[in-house]
Amino acid sequence: MFNKKTIRDIDVNGKRVLVRVDFNVPLKDGRVTDDTRIRAALPTLKALLDAGAALILCSHLGRPKGQPDPAYSLEPAADLLANRLKATNTFVPDLVGPKAQAAAAALQPGRVLVLENTRFHPGETKNDPELSKQLAALAEVFVNDAFGSAHRAHASTVGVAAHLPAVAGLLMEKEIQYLGQAVAKPKRPFVAILGGAKISDKIGVIRNLLVKADSILIGGGMANTFFKAQGLPIGDSLFEPDAVESARTLLGNPKLHLPLDVVVASAFDNEAEFRTLATGPVQQGWRILDIGPETVRNFGRMVQAAGTVVWNGPMGVFEMSNYANGTLGLAQAVAASPAITIVGGGDSAAAIQQSGLADKITHISTGGGASLEMLEGLELPGVAALLDKV
Ligand code: AMP
Repeated sequence: MFNKKTIRDIDVNGKRVLVRVDFNVPLKDGRVTDDTRIRAALPTLKALLDAGAALILCSHLGRPKGQPDPAYSLEPAADLLANRLKATNTFVPDLVGPKAQAAAAALQPGRVLVLENTRFHPGETKNDPELSKQLAALAEVFVNDAFGSAHRAHASTVGVAAHLPAVAGLLMEKEIQYLGQAVAKPKRPFVAILGGAKISDKIGVIRNLLVKADSILIGGGMANTFFKAQGLPIGDSLFEPDAVESARTLLGNPKLHLPLDVVVASAFDNEAEFRTLATGPVQQGWRILDIGPETVRNFGRMVQAAGTVVWNGPMGVFEMSNYANGTLGLAQAVAASPAITIVGGGDSAAAIQQSGLADKITHISTGGGASLEMLEGLELPGVAALLDKV
C-alpha cells in the first residue's frame, strides 16, 4: 500500500541523517504547551539512533515572515525533545551556513543536532534550489517524517529530497497507511464527518468523499453555507458567499447529511442568550454556533454503525463551553464506535484530547491540511519526492 522506501530500507549506520520533523507546536511564553507532535516523532528518531545514525533535525514552526523572529524559535521544542529522548542535544541558531556546517561536521553517531526554524529563510516556502542544496550538504541521508507538512512543496520537504537518498519516517508511513487505507479500501460503511468554519477549502474533499464514502456528515460553520444554498435565512450566522454556488451543486446527494437541529445565540459570546432550534429559518440578530442534540444522536447512530469513521473539524464554536456540546458529544460517539476511527485536524484532535478519549481512537493524525488533501485524493508532494519501493 505505502509504496515509498522507509528508514527500514536504508543503512544509516555511522551516517549523518537529516530528518524533517513536524515540530510545529503551540508555544506560550517560550514553552511548548502541547508536545503531541514531538512525541509522535520519537519512534523514528529512536530507531535511527539505535541504527547508529547521527541526527540533524529541521522543522518549521508557525509563520515567521522569512526572517529570524525569536517568538518562533525551535529552541523550546529542541529542549523538550532532549528531555523526551533523554539525550543531550545541540541546538544551532541557524538552518544553514557556517555554524550549522561546523556543528553537522562534528556530530557523532548517537547524537542529535536541532537546527533553527526553516521558515526563518525566505527560500523555504519558495522551495529555493540553493537553500535545498545547502541543507542537503549537511547530511548523507534525508528522512521525511513531517506528515503535517507533506502537502507543502518547500525546500525542507521537497527540494532537499532531490540531493540525497530520501526515505519516509515511521510516522509518515503510519499516517499514510491509515488515511490511504480509509480512502482507498475502507471497511464499510465509511462515514466521513466534516466541520470547522470554512467550506471553501473542503469542497474538493466533499466531492471526492461523495464518491468514496457512504455518508458525509456536515456540521460546524460550513453547514451554514449549505443552509444558505437551500434558501434558508440564517440570520447573522457565519457563511461563505463565494461558496454558496458550489454548495448548491452538492445538495440533494443522498450521502450528504446536514444538521437536523442547531444551537443559535444572540451574540458570538459564551455569555449570550442561546437556544436549540429545529433546522429552519434563523432570525436576524441570531447566529448558529453549534449542532443540536438531535443531530448528535443522528450522527452518533451512523458513527456507531460504521466500519470506518474519518473526522475533521469541530461541529461548533467548541472554544466556548455553551457551544461545545456538539463537538464533545460527537467525540464521545466516535470514541464509542467499534469502527476504525481516524481524527485529523488540530481542533477535532484537541476536542478528543480534552475529553480524555484519545486512547479510544484508532488513529489521531498529526496533520490537518495534509490529511484533508489525502481525503481529497491528492498526492502529497513531500511523499512523491521520496524514493519508490522497488
Ligand atoms: P477550521 O479552521 O475551518 O477547521 O475551523 C475551526 C473553527 O471553526 C473553530 O475555531 C470553531 O470555533 C469554528 N466554528 C465551528 N462552527 C462554527 C460556527 N457555527 N460559527 C462560527 N465558527 C464556527
